Amino acid sequence: MGKGKQRVFKASYIIVLLIVSVGVFMWYSNVLKDELRGLVRDTLKEVSNQNVLVVQKEITGDLNALAEIADRIAPLQDTEEIMEVLDEVLIRYSFKRMGYVGSDGMAHTTDRLSFDVSNNAYYQASIQGETYISDIVIDWTDGEETIIFSTPIKSNGEIIGIVIATYRVESLKEILSVTSFDGEGYTYIIQRDGSKVVDSINPTSFQNMTNIFTSMEEADKRNTKVIRELKHLLENNQTGFVIFYNIIGKYMYITPLGINDWFLIDVVPVDFMESTSNYIIQRTYLVFVVLVVVCVVIAVMIFWEERRKKKEMQNLLYVDELTKGNTLAKFKLDLKQKIFDKHNSAALIVLDLDDFKLINELFGYDEGNKVLCDIWTTLQGNCGKEEVAGRGIADHFVMCLQYGKKKEIEERILKITEEIQHCFMPKSMEYILHPVFGVYYMEQYDEDIEAMIDCATLAHNHVKQERNGIYKVYTDVMKERILEKKQLSDQIEHAYKNHEFIVYYQPKYGSKSQRLVGAEALVRWRRPNGQMVSPGLFIPLAEESGFVRKLDEYVFKEVCLAQRRWMDKGLPIVPISVNISRRHLENPEFIDEYKKILDDSGVPIEYIQLEITESAMLDEHEELIAIMERLHQLGFIILMDDFGTGYSSLMMLKSVPVDIMKLDKSFVDDYDDERGEQIIRRVMQMAKDLKIEVTAEGVETEDQYEFLKSINCDTIQGYYFARPMPEDEFEKCMNEESA
Ligand code: C2E
Ligand code: CA
Ligand code: CA
Repeated sequence: MGKGKQRVFKASYIIVLLIVSVGVFMWYSNVLKDELRGLVRDTLKEVSNQNVLVVQKEITGDLNALAEIADRIAPLQDTEEIMEVLDEVLIRYSFKRMGYVGSDGMAHTTDRLSFDVSNNAYYQASIQGETYISDIVIDWTDGEETIIFSTPIKSNGEIIGIVIATYRVESLKEILSVTSFDGEGYTYIIQRDGSKVVDSINPTSFQNMTNIFTSMEEADKRNTKVIRELKHLLENNQTGFVIFYNIIGKYMYITPLGINDWFLIDVVPVDFMESTSNYIIQRTYLVFVVLVVVCVVIAVMIFWEERRKKKEMQNLLYVDELTKGNTLAKFKLDLKQKIFDKHNSAALIVLDLDDFKLINELFGYDEGNKVLCDIWTTLQGNCGKEEVAGRGIADHFVMCLQYGKKKEIEERILKITEEIQHCFMPKSMEYILHPVFGVYYMEQYDEDIEAMIDCATLAHNHVKQERNGIYKVYTDVMKERILEKKQLSDQIEHAYKNHEFIVYYQPKYGSKSQRLVGAEALVRWRRPNGQMVSPGLFIPLAEESGFVRKLDEYVFKEVCLAQRRWMDKGLPIVPISVNISRRHLENPEFIDEYKKILDDSGVPIEYIQLEITESAMLDEHEELIAIMERLHQLGFIILMDDFGTGYSSLMMLKSVPVDIMKLDKSFVDDYDDERGEQIIRRVMQMAKDLKIEVTAEGVETEDQYEFLKSINCDTIQGYYFARPMPEDEFEKCMNEESA
């Protein structure tokens, strides 16, 4: 996934999460609200029920009292006596007035009024035997709102009159005005048609209400619907809730009182009722917001931490600690983007210093590191915008340069070489750096980078092997050769078991005597099909794998056995030299093994000589001398092979116990140019001074032979006299000698 896509994905992930959590929260707060609202209604219902009870208790109490009074006055005949009783009980009850109505319909009240009530509803009801409660009646004496209670007076089962009591509405009002809901709540009693029975003194209630519907309608237009609901409840004599508006929203709880068509209405502002639930909901909101903030903060922190870690990892992976430049990993990454994606013509170049190890040893690691940093700066300075460079391990660098024509790459390599050689060497170092380049021209854009680097490295190795030159371009032949080598290397061990290795002998002749004075044993690989594989090909491979030790030991043993046979045949024995690979020098134990093989064969030690190549002597100087001394002590003659190829100084000959020096073929070839001749002469002189015998290798022509003879070279080996040959042929040579 690309970076942009990843970001969009992350953002949408967070948004979805937010939406879901807000949704869940809304749902939860609604559930909570409903739950709390239910609780609020329950409270209101509770208060309302309480009020109903109070009102019922007040009125039934009064009616019971009235019935008792009726019983008391039933036996009395005299109006005056009745009035006395009424006067007496009036003081005990809170009625405004009481009265007695006889069967004539004339009322006699405790305030000494007499009037005809025969047309009044309460009279007509009670004279029929009912206990009656009137609706609101305006007292004609003072205009006060009252309720009239009446009950029949029975004597011997006959109704002889009624008792009436005038009840002040104000008293009910007082009872109901007991504060509820912190003074925010109030209570009305209304009739089914909405007309007021008892209103409230609470200042937030409807003032001067005569009909609740009218008051509601006047208070707020929104109430129209509520009125309908309310009417519905009243008509069906039901208990229920409505919410209406009088400036603010208010709950109204309606309960039938069970007296006339009266209903008790308890009112409380929605806000008040919901203040607790709102408080809880607000707290919940707060907790939610805090949670969301905390989650977001944590998410952001995790995100940042991840980014930081990723950056750190990338730095570790992509930034070279030493040069602060690109690592190989970064190089590969950039290569894909800058070259592959754009299909530009480009060359992949690997380079290192020919002698970086030496720089570290001569000038110290700090200087070595500085050189690496300087090289990085040079490479980077030579990279265009679409080009890349990076460092692998030690002094191995990689670059990818673009080109129009391939020649440009060569020019740029030379320019970089120039800069590395001249710009960055500290003055204290009188040392010139030698960068070596391997070039691979990229053909396709889907190639394996690793494989391309390998190809460039292959070309690079060629420059190194040849020991001069600055760069080489990879060719397929290089790879084929590598493949061949790989195949050979894989086959060597099998070939050994299959007895495909045989020993050839190349005779050596005395320069003056021209007689056979010795021979060199040279291993040959003869394939089952008769094809010969050159030791120049397989010996380096065997050296690489270490198999050469086995091979050398085999040759050594074969030579010992051959000498034994020749001795037994009574042939004139000459010493035969055997090559010892540098790999033996790592492990001195071979000496004992060789000695044992020799002793087992019973061949005198002077019949076997050992050749050690000069270049091997450079490496482990002290250990090598120890090994050579040990061999010497045992009685082996030691030959220094390939003298002149390993850059060893003549002075070295003084410290190394060498008996015979083999002048390399390259010297012999150069004998005819003046400088070459001078060198050979000097070497010969030096060897003579050190009492070291000299054998010339690779002598092919008579001129070479004559020259070597003239300067007193002791022994001659080369095609001029004889090529390496199989055992039986060499036997013939020996036979000829003895003839
Ligand atoms: P070397 O030890 O320097 O052996 C001499 C090489 O020069 C031999 O090549 C020989 O055939 C060749 N030679 C001799 N005279 C002439 C001449 O007049 N002209 C030319 N052009 N070449 C001449 P060869 O046999 O191919 O061996 C190559 C190298 O392989 C040897 O070089 C040696 O380093 C290695 N080698 C051969 N046999 C063994 C062995 O048994 N053990 C080890 N460790 N290395 C061996
Ligand atoms: Ca040799
Ligand atoms: Ca040689």
